[in-house]
Amino acid sequence: MSGPSFRIGLGRDLHRLVPGRRFLLAGVEIPSESGELGHSDGDVLAHAVTDAVLGAAGLADIGQLFPPSDAQWKDADSMVLLRRAFGLVREAGWRLSNLDCVVVCEKPKLLPWRDAIRASLAAALDVEAADVFVKGKTNEKVDAIGEGLAVDATAVCLLERAKP
Ligand code: MG
Repeated sequence: MSGPSFRIGLGRDLHRLVPGRRFLLAGVEIPSESGELGHSDGDVLAHAVTDAVLGAAGLADIGQLFPPSDAQWKDADSMVLLRRAFGLVREAGWRLSNLDCVVVCEKPKLLPWRDAIRASLAAALDVEAADVFVKGKTNEKVDAIGEGLAVDATAVCLLERAKP
């Protein structure tokens, strides 16, 4: 196959946090007083990772593939959307080399859930958990994220050409 052997991708997303919603990161539900508002399940990390892998392959973005205007994505499981998007990436001849992510929220603390989040992403992206990393940060009480009103996620990935 011609063309580059590696491609980098970047994804970012932010969701408001409101009472009465689940707090989901890569499909892992974390006990919290508030959770992500969204047309889908609001899983901010799944959305950032979806945009990273799609962007690396130059295919689309999450809003194009799964438009919020389409009723079929209401309350959708965002890990199903990620698997579907990554299926397109694989069909285009790529495999994931590694993925690195940062999630910013004032609370809850994410460290106890990190291994579960890494395992969930690794399973969806057909790699080992060692190929996926996730860091939790606070916003030092600054701005809306620091006030606990939102959660932000950034993901960077490297794709490599799959062996034919
Ligand atoms: Mg989103």
